Amino acid sequence: MSLFSDLFLPHISRLKAYTPGLQPTETGWTKLNTNECGYPPSPRVAEALVRELEDGAASLRLYPNPTSAPVRRAIAAYHGQGLEAENVIVGNGSDDILNLLVRCLGGPGAATGFTYPSYSLYPVLVEIQAGHSRVIEFERSMELPVDQIAISSAKGFFLTSPNAPTGVSFANRQLEEILERFHGILVVDEAYAPFARENAVELLSRHPRLVVVRTLSKAHALAGIRVGYALGHPEIIASLDRVRDSYNVSRLSQVAAVAALGDVGYYSALIEKIKATRDFYRNAWMTKLGWFSFPSEANFIFVEPKAQNGQTGLVIAQSVYHHLLSRKILVRAFPNHPLTASFLRISVGTDDEMLLVHQALLAWQPTAPSV
Ligand SMILES: *Cc1c(COP(=O)(O)O)cnc(C)c1O
Repeated sequence: MSLFSDLFLPHISRLKAYTPGLQPTETGWTKLNTNECGYPPSPRVAEALVRELEDGAASLRLYPNPTSAPVRRAIAAYHGQGLEAENVIVGNGSDDILNLLVRCLGGPGAATGFTYPSYSLYPVLVEIQAGHSRVIEFERSMELPVDQIAISSAKGFFLTSPNAPTGVSFANRQLEEILERFHGILVVDEAYAPFARENAVELLSRHPRLVVVRTLSKAHALAGIRVGYALGHPEIIASLDRVRDSYNVSRLSQVAAVAALGDVGYYSALIEKIKATRDFYRNAWMTKLGWFSFPSEANFIFVEPKAQNGQTGLVIAQSVYHHLLSRKILVRAFPNHPLTASFLRISVGTDDEMLLVHQALLAWQPTAPSV
């Protein structure tokens, strides 16, 4: 019984907050646990921020553009394909955007759908609105359960593609099959799409019930600046606009976002480098260690550690996790579900970071008593 239990709504007292990956404050860690970019953002970002802070940061006296209008225009131009500023809403990270979507589509009496595994923030957002979650579980193959999603009665269905934490991407052909049959709004969370072969943006012009969510946190190396956005039909965007905070994106964030989106050359080279590193190590771990991983179209590798005797599972994955931790290498484990417990998710870092992980994995010896 808490002091205030008669004041807070009952579902708030029962809430469990989202658990983010560890963010250590000391230096010396190789941090490959939250899919941040191993490389810095475009130099144009720092230049633009310095310019914004001229005259003793005098501009910070003033509120930012309330609709992030310059960022919306930059995003529309960046994607092209007939998109206009009215097709875009900008948020304080894509988490803010996902929250706006659940505010509009979820809530008491409404069902919100998502798959398992996928981004574990969705159920938290649904519970905050006191809504119902409809969870569709993948099989071990991680193939998209198109039919189950298509017949779902959820008002909004959240699909991560490429998926987290598996890295598996879904084909536009499959998304279209869902869009043709599903009655709700299909939200495709494309946080990792810059690392994928295909993305759903081209489907927007044909499918008004599709919303594509993007972030600058991963491929644009700006997790600290908190900018994400959604692309969709102007009426959907207008609804999201009604429920957002009036100044939801700071001045500095808007400036950084416009500068980053303008430097396409820098980011295409960066993304190619990360993809090459990813494919090199995924292949090395399959051939040198014999460890299974799903084909990744993201900036991480979801890998299933295997002992010499062929054993895999939670105990083996935990043994590797702790071995890496003892070498100050941080990766992500998902011990709470049989579909994910035998795996570790390792973000693709710089060459130096990846070499450290690689050497540590080669040096791992199972320490668990059951092996
Ligand atoms: C990282 C991530 C986000 C969050 O992005 P922010 O813009 O930093 O809030 C959203 N969805 C997925 C699937 C992610 O992996």
